[in-house]
Amino acid sequence: MTDANLIARYDRPVPRYTSYPTAPHFHAGIDRVAVADWLAALPAEEPVSLYLHVPFCKQMCWYCGCNTQITARHQPVADFAENLIAEIELVGRHLIAGGITTRRRVTSVHFGGGTPNSLDADDFRRIMMALDHVFDLAGDLDLALELDPRHLGPDFLAALRQCGAARVSLGVQDFDPAVQLAINRVQPYDLVARAVEDLREAGVRGINFDLIYGLPYQSVESMARTAQLAASLRPDRIALFGYAHVPWMKANQRLIDETALPDAPMRARQFAAAADMLVTHGYQQIGLDHFALPTDSLAQALSEGRLRRNFQGYTDDCAETILGFGPSAISSTPWGYAQNVTDNSPWAKEVKAGRLATARGIQLSADDRRHRALIDNIMCYGAADLTALPLNAKTELARLAPLIADGLVRLDAGHLQLTPRGEPFRRIVAAAFDSYLQPDTQRHSRAV
Ligand code: SF4
Repeated sequence: MTDANLIARYDRPVPRYTSYPTAPHFHAGIDRVAVADWLAALPAEEPVSLYLHVPFCKQMCWYCGCNTQITARHQPVADFAENLIAEIELVGRHLIAGGITTRRRVTSVHFGGGTPNSLDADDFRRIMMALDHVFDLAGDLDLALELDPRHLGPDFLAALRQCGAARVSLGVQDFDPAVQLAINRVQPYDLVARAVEDLREAGVRGINFDLIYGLPYQSVESMARTAQLAASLRPDRIALFGYAHVPWMKANQRLIDETALPDAPMRARQFAAAADMLVTHGYQQIGLDHFALPTDSLAQALSEGRLRRNFQGYTDDCAETILGFGPSAISSTPWGYAQNVTDNSPWAKEVKAGRLATARGIQLSADDRRHRALIDNIMCYGAADLTALPLNAKTELARLAPLIADGLVRLDAGHLQLTPRGEPFRRIVAAAFDSYLQPDTQRHSRAV
C-alpha cells in the first residue's frame, strides 16, 4: 500500500492522548465532594506539580483551539488573578483537611493559557507568592510559562527573573508573513529572535517553540523554511503540532480560509519536511511531535525511560499528581482526573464562594490504568508490552490486525513495536487500546 493510500485509510479523528480516559469521557459524577476527598488523601511525602490556566489573550488568533477570551482591558485579568489566589488558598485548606499540615512539596509549576503574560508583572509575582505560601516550592523548581512574544515587556521579564522562571514556551507557529496574515498572528522573525535574547538574559534556561503545520497557505517549502529559521535560534525544544480545524467547535476558526488549507497528504509532507530540517539541525524527535536538543531534559528523559505524557504534552515531570487551577484546568491524581468549570465567570463565582470549582472528571478503574500504561508507552516510546493485557483482549487484537497487515506495527512475542512506516500513525496505534473510543467522532482532531 502506498503512503497516500495509508493516509486515506487512517486519517480519521483520534485523541491526542494527553490523558486516558480522555476529557470527553469526564462526567459530572466526579464533583467537588469527590475532589475534596482526593485532596485530603494525597500522600504527604509525594511531590505534586501545579498547572495554572490563564484564560485571557489580547488578540484572537484565528486557528486558536484553546480556552481563552479576548480582552484589551486589564481589570478582568486583575480580578482573575485575585480569584486564582483565592483558589490556591482554598485548595491549600483542602490539602490540610486530611490532617497533614506540612506544605506539599512542589517540583514543577506550569502557567498555560490563553496567554500567561496577559497578567501584569505584579499579578504574576503575587500568584507566585500565594503558591509559595501554600506549597513548599522546591529550590530547583521547574517554573515554566507559555508566553506570547508580542507582549513581552521589561516588567514581565524582570518578574520572570525574580521568580526564577526556568522554561518558557513561545507560540511561534510559522515565520511566513502570508501565513501569519491568514491566521491573524503577525509576528516577524526579528520579534521572536529578540524575545529569545531577552528571555535568556532574564535567566530563562530552557526555551521552547510551538510550530504548527497544516495552516492556510503553508507549503512543504515554507514549513521547511520555518523549521530552519526556528532551529537557527536554537530553542531547546520545538513542538510541531498539526492544526486541528474544528470550526463547528471553535467559531474563530470560521475566519480561516478553508480553501487554503492543505489536504492530508500535504499535511504529512509538511510535517516530514519540517521534521527532517530539525533533525538536520541537531534536534532529536521525541514521540509524536516534539523535537529536542540532546542536552535538553526531554531528550535525556527519553533515553533514560523517564518520558511521560500529560496535559502539556511530553514531559520529564515524574510527579503522579498535578493540581489544576483556573477555569477548565484539569487535575490528575492517583485516583482519577477532575476538571474545573470551563468558563471564567462561573469558575470565579465558585471560588469566591469558597467552593472547589470542579465540573466533571473520571475515576480510574484497574482496566483504565492498564490501558493508560499501554497508550502512554506507545505515545512516548512507540512500543508496548502486551503481555499485561487480559487474555480476553480480543477487541484490541482485532483492531491491531490491520495495522500489522499494513506494516505500521510489528507484534513479536507480545511486544508491540511501531515501525518507521507507522510513525505518522502513532495516535491510530494508541487508539487500538482505547476502550472508550467510538467510531464517530468530531470531537477529536485528525490523525495526520
Ligand atoms: S495567543 Fe494562544 S491562546 Fe491566545 S488566541 Fe492565540 S493561540 Fe489562542
